Amino acid sequence: MAWRCSGISNPDLINRMDQAKLISNPTVKAAMLAVDRGHYSRFKPYEDSPQTIGHNSTISAPHMHAAALESLAPFLFPGAKALDVGSGSGYLTVCMAEMVGPQGRAVGVDHIPELVELAKQNTKKDHPEFLQNNRVSFYTADGRVGFPQDAPYDCIHVGAAAYKLHDKLVEQLKAPGRMFIPVGDEGGQAIYVVDKDKDGNITKKKTMDVWVMF
Ligand code: SAH
Repeated sequence: MAWRCSGISNPDLINRMDQAKLISNPTVKAAMLAVDRGHYSRFKPYEDSPQTIGHNSTISAPHMHAAALESLAPFLFPGAKALDVGSGSGYLTVCMAEMVGPQGRAVGVDHIPELVELAKQNTKKDHPEFLQNNRVSFYTADGRVGFPQDAPYDCIHVGAAAYKLHDKLVEQLKAPGRMFIPVGDEGGQAIYVVDKDKDGNITKKKTMDVWVMF
């Protein structure tokens, strides 16, 4: 399924994912069209597969980015605040910033300083204005404790596989709010969607199994 969606350009890749029903929300499609993966991956940016970004890390496959944005879309409304834990290349953080609009904010954190610098450089090539007006910011931090400086968030995306749902991340969600988080290890991962309702009640739902590391 995934490989079938590889394209020769960013619009080609996104249109193929749309046709394959990996994208259904028009806002997600618009964001993925507006953020050119070619600025975030040195290798095969329009192939639907993860690619190395150095430092033992990868930019996730486009269909994984689409799944995350589709799930978080109700919480990426204009003016919303989003946190991207394990921001790596910066690609998804910038897509989130695109969706939350000029009044919103997307914060990316990664524990590898070189990748934080890479995310800034990639964003500069694609949407330099997002860095200038703080619509996007990248910080070096251990994402397991979230990023309390900007909390609470309407939504949190976790790009690094966690071995559990860290309480600090759940705490930093607004009510209502949503978190998209892969949980597991090399043996296999599952994506969990954690919802906090307006009264602060938490529900956790396993949405998909993932057998490749991303
Ligand atoms: N979503 C990103 C990167 C995914 S790879 C992209 O698509 O480009 C996972 C990233 O999580 C890596 O960049 C890695 O450095 C980062 N990471 C792993 N553990 C982390 C932690 N505890 N805190 C912050 N970042 C972490």
